[in-house]
Amino acid sequence: MSNLAKVVEELFNKSIKECSDEEVYVGLLKLTKDSIQNKGYNEGKKQIYYISAEFLIGKLLSNNLINLGIYDEISKELADNGKDITKIEEVELEPSLGNGGLGRLAACFIDSIATLGMAGAGITLNYHLGLFKQVFENKLQKETPNNWITENCWSTRQSNSYEVPFKNFTLKSTLYDIDVSGYDNKAIKLHLFDIDTVDENLVYDGIKFDQHDIAKNLTLFIYPDDSTREGQLLRIYQQYFMVSNGAQLIIEEAKARGCDDLRKLNEYAVIQINDTHPSMVIPELIRIMTSQGISMDEAIDTVSKTCAYTNHTILAEALEKWPMDYLEEVVPHLIPIIRELDNRVRAKFSDPSVAIIDESNRVHMAHMDIHYSFSVNGVAYLHTEILKNSELKNFYDIYPEKFNNKTNGITFRRWLMHCNHPLTNLIEELIGPGFKKDANELEKLLQFKDDDAVLDKLLAIKKDAKVVLKDFVKANVNQDIDENSIFDIQVKRLHEYKRQQLNVLYIINKYLEIKEGKTPKTPITFVFGAKAAPAYIIAKDIIHAILCLQELINNDPEVSKYIKVVMVENYNVTAAEKLFPACDISEQISLASKEASGTGNMKFMLNGAVTLGTDDGANVEIHQLVGDENIYIFGADSDSVIEHYAKGDYCALEILKNNPEISKLVEFLISPQMVAVGNYDNLQRLYHEIVTKDWFMTLLDVEDYIKVKDQAIADYADRKTWAKKMLVNIAKAGFFSSDRTIEQYNQDVWKLN
Ligand SMILES: *Cc1c(COP(=O)(O)O)cnc(C)c1O
Repeated sequence: MSNLAKVVEELFNKSIKECSDEEVYVGLLKLTKDSIQNKGYNEGKKQIYYISAEFLIGKLLSNNLINLGIYDEISKELADNGKDITKIEEVELEPSLGNGGLGRLAACFIDSIATLGMAGAGITLNYHLGLFKQVFENKLQKETPNNWITENCWSTRQSNSYEVPFKNFTLKSTLYDIDVSGYDNKAIKLHLFDIDTVDENLVYDGIKFDQHDIAKNLTLFIYPDDSTREGQLLRIYQQYFMVSNGAQLIIEEAKARGCDDLRKLNEYAVIQINDTHPSMVIPELIRIMTSQGISMDEAIDTVSKTCAYTNHTILAEALEKWPMDYLEEVVPHLIPIIRELDNRVRAKFSDPSVAIIDESNRVHMAHMDIHYSFSVNGVAYLHTEILKNSELKNFYDIYPEKFNNKTNGITFRRWLMHCNHPLTNLIEELIGPGFKKDANELEKLLQFKDDDAVLDKLLAIKKDAKVVLKDFVKANVNQDIDENSIFDIQVKRLHEYKRQQLNVLYIINKYLEIKEGKTPKTPITFVFGAKAAPAYIIAKDIIHAILCLQELINNDPEVSKYIKVVMVENYNVTAAEKLFPACDISEQISLASKEASGTGNMKFMLNGAVTLGTDDGANVEIHQLVGDENIYIFGADSDSVIEHYAKGDYCALEILKNNPEISKLVEFLISPQMVAVGNYDNLQRLYHEIVTKDWFMTLLDVEDYIKVKDQAIADYADRKTWAKKMLVNIAKAGFFSSDRTIEQYNQDVWKLN
């Protein structure tokens, strides 16, 4: 009897054939968990602790089977017993432990850390209801709780428990662990801290809940609404709970590995602070050390040698600054330490822009990170350059040696081997299996650049993936799309800097052209997927505009012959795995200088989509790797954008006055056609925002965007030439493996033994 047969026999007293899909899933869950534990965990004296408010890990079953090397065997055994592994996968709920790129990056990183045999762990919170689940109601986003924790899930309760002191009470933590298997290697752990008293019944009317009762609400949601004082306090409670537990666990484990003197903690642990949410780990570690008799000087020295900080954004509003009196109310015991850290900075540097506590008595978390970490990194070449030369220049002048770049990456196990079996198999046929361990071997594909048979196979695989997405879209939002059309896809968080609104203006232009009789040669399907932050009004208005266009266009037989618009509901990792393989044109159209890296751009490239983008984030590196012929670049460059901001000379109204063609597109947002299917108030507010403000300069790039996108769409018709572009993109994607990124972190920053 096979292992799986034994497990389900034991659990259900049934054969595999007799089991329901749910029962097979439960059997596989047990089999997989046991296999990972039996293989064991990576070990080493010094360990990497990756602390992050989010880990957007996605479903785990298939990925674990792949990493354990038993995927093919299991899927065959299931098929032999009349079961379809893709149906079994559907039983699993996606853990809702993240928001977007930053959380997905953390997930890719722990996969690579485990795969490369490094010892370490991820540290985060066990958010019971996750982010929110997005539903569309009357063409508006509505948020509902995302109840992902079930009896049969990947996390396992541990015996660890720590006391976390707050001003008026102390909370006792519980720990859940998820094993993260390495590809053909041992595992590491993702630690999810929680409390036993959380009460999901607190939630009413979507995702509202009483924000006062911390013992009941602490780990309900990731990123609770912080538009109120209560919401901000709750975020501070969450952050401190995460880092205090993390610090206590790290110290406990270091001691168990032989660290007999906390002044040597840096020889046993390195802590990567993922964005500013975990920044309080710095004063917390100092507090613990000084409370155990270590001097302030020594504690600061050790902690600074243990912590490294990753910056993810130059958007000012995203850099956390907590009011001192809020911190006072939640963690008064950290205040003397934060003041001491600030005093030391002020004693050394007279420039007030590098202080930790500003004149409004707010604590700049990123500033604390930079002064008291030994490494500060950006996440793509351009991003790091902007940090050094403008955004964090005053810090770079003080600490040039701390700054370094680590261009983001993605795990190819999930974003190629798991989500695109046909493409993986073709690549293996062509160049052998070596690329699965060394992504750079994908370059060997270049020898097939002029091989018609290979190019035809690539096109056939793409077409099949489009059929899979077509079925997904039908089930997800009940829209019919055509696999023979161009799939133009923009999926990512909804944010004005990512400029979904620019794509909207293009679609309006196409709609008006078709109405005037100018029809595209190849039909086009415009696909969107995006969640908007619940309190981000304009982002929600953009979703409304997209859903209005979806209704207007798809129900107009004259237009829907040529173009369609669909917005998938609740974009998440599971949806992403269907979307990336099916894409022809990858929309990466952020305002230059604003997207730190992007990782969606890399997933699309790896799956043979061609990028349409600005020279922003990692698009710059994609551009360099594939060359001008294999990418479509448009728009103002980052230098000129930064200059516009410095001079304050961008004026949307001016552009509209001088360009009736552009004006026509923006006016369409509040046209009778749009108002007939949508809400005037939402459309008018979006229109007004673009006309009077347009902070992310949509109108600066709209003409060039239309021109270059039209070119890409025209080029698509030459299938052979297009397939060549696809092949070059896949072949050059090896650089974006997160294994490369993690090796660089280890060489330059972590230095694990
Ligand atoms: C990769 C990914 C992201 C990040 O996408 P960007 O285009 O880089 O912003 C966000 N969400 C999910 C589900 C992803 O898989």
